Amino acid sequence: MHETAFVNEIISALRNKFNKEKVDGEVSVNVRLSPLSHVSKEGLRNSYQELSRSSGFEDVRLNIEPLKVLLICHDCKSSLFISTPTIKCPRCNSESISINFEKEFLIESIEINKKDGKFSKN
Ligand SMILES: [Zn+2]
Repeated sequence: MHETAFVNEIISALRNKFNKEKVDGEVSVNVRLSPLSHVSKEGLRNSYQELSRSSGFEDVRLNIEPLKVLLICHDCKSSLFISTPTIKCPRCNSESISINFEKEFLIESIEINKKDGKFSKN
């Protein structure tokens, strides 16, 4: 269950950040999910809802953006970022490619919009 690992990572990042302080305002977590991951955006959101219950971070907003994945073509020597799964080089159609799977998921940043602060949207 990859979703669970990702959600646990988000919750522990939030715990580290707030360290038992009371969260004052609306918290957004910006994460990136590889388009090649088996985990979908929806799957991640649903798991978050389930697993964050009683963590104190149930109301956190998750912004999920696609992670850029690097593709290297050994024929035309292109290196480019892809956002959809592929088995061929988008430039020359060669199948002699390497795709960097190193990262499937990462937490980019945690933002707080304070209720009375200047970042408030209300
Ligand atoms: Zn190529």
